[in-house]
Amino acid sequence: MKKVISIVLIAQSFLSFAQNISKERVVNIVSTLASDEMKGRKFGTLENDKAAEYIASEFKKNNLDYCFGDSYLIPFEYKDKKGYNVCGIKKGKSEQSLAYSAHFDHIGTNNKEGDNIYNGADDDASGVATVIGLADYFKDKKTDFSMVFMAFNAEEIGLIGSKALAENEKLNPVFSNIKALFNFEMLATESQFGKNAVFMTGDEFSDFDELINNNAVNGLKVYPDPYQGQQLFYRSDNVNFVKKKIIAHSISTVDMNKAVHYHAVNDDINIVDADNLTSIINNLAKTIEKLNTKNFTPKYNDKVKYDF
Ligand SMILES: [Zn+2]
Repeated sequence: MKKVISIVLIAQSFLSFAQNISKERVVNIVSTLASDEMKGRKFGTLENDKAAEYIASEFKKNNLDYCFGDSYLIPFEYKDKKGYNVCGIKKGKSEQSLAYSAHFDHIGTNNKEGDNIYNGADDDASGVATVIGLADYFKDKKTDFSMVFMAFNAEEIGLIGSKALAENEKLNPVFSNIKALFNFEMLATESQFGKNAVFMTGDEFSDFDELINNNAVNGLKVYPDPYQGQQLFYRSDNVNFVKKKIIAHSISTVDMNKAVHYHAVNDDINIVDADNLTSIINNLAKTIEKLNTKNFTPKYNDKVKYDF
C-alpha cells in the first residue's frame, strides 16, 4: 500500500511539474522581446513588426485559433504608420471567455552615447510573458471558459493599439463573449506587498479581485491599487475594454515609489526577478484553472465610468 501511495505521489508530482511553466521559458520570452536586436519595439519600426511576429509564432505553438481571418496579426494604421496587434483564441466548453492581454511595444531608442536602447523588459515584456505563459499552461487543457490572448501595439503613444483592436467590428463576436479581461502591465519586480503578490487597478469598481482571491492558490494575493492618485485604471489598455462595459482591470507588481527603471534604458533583463515572475504566472494559471462560468461572474458596481 505504501508503495502504491508513493507511486501515486510521484506520478502526481510529475504531472504538476509538467504543467508548470519553467523559469527558463519565462526568461527566454522576456529576453527575446527585450533583446537589443528588438531596439525597444517602437510602433512603426521593423523591430516592432518582428516582436508581433514572434508573439504570433508562440500563439501558433500553443495551437490557438485566429480571432478572425487567417492570421493572428491584426493590422491597423495610425498617423500613416502600419502596425499589428496580435490575437489568438482557445475554445473552451463555453463560449463565455476570459481574456488576457499585455502591450508588446515600447519606446525605442535615444541618440545618446552608450546604452541607448529602451529594452522594456518589465514594461511590458513581462506582461507578454505572462500572456504567453498562460497560453502554454492551458495548451492541452479543456477549460470551462474559452480564452482570448491578446498582445497590444502602440500603448506607449497613447493606448492606440488596444483602441484599434477594441473598436474593430470584425472582433465583436469575440469581444461580446468576454466576461473578464486580465491586462498585465509590469510584473517583473517584487511588489510593495512582497513576493507572490500583485495589485489590481480599479479594484474599487468591481468584485474581480475578491473572486480571484477566493480561488487563489499557493498564497498568491491580489491587493488593491496602492497608487490611487495616479489613475492607473484609466491610463492602461484595459480602459478601451471598460468603454465596451467589459470587466477589465490591469494587474501589476511595479512599485511606483521605487521603480527607477520606468521608461529608462536600464529596464532590461537584469532587473527581472524571474523567480517571482515565474511563480506569479504559475499560481495565476492554477487559480484561473479553478474558475468556471458559475463561480466566476465578476460585475462592476455603479462607481465605474464608461465614458471619459
Ligand atoms: Zn507599459
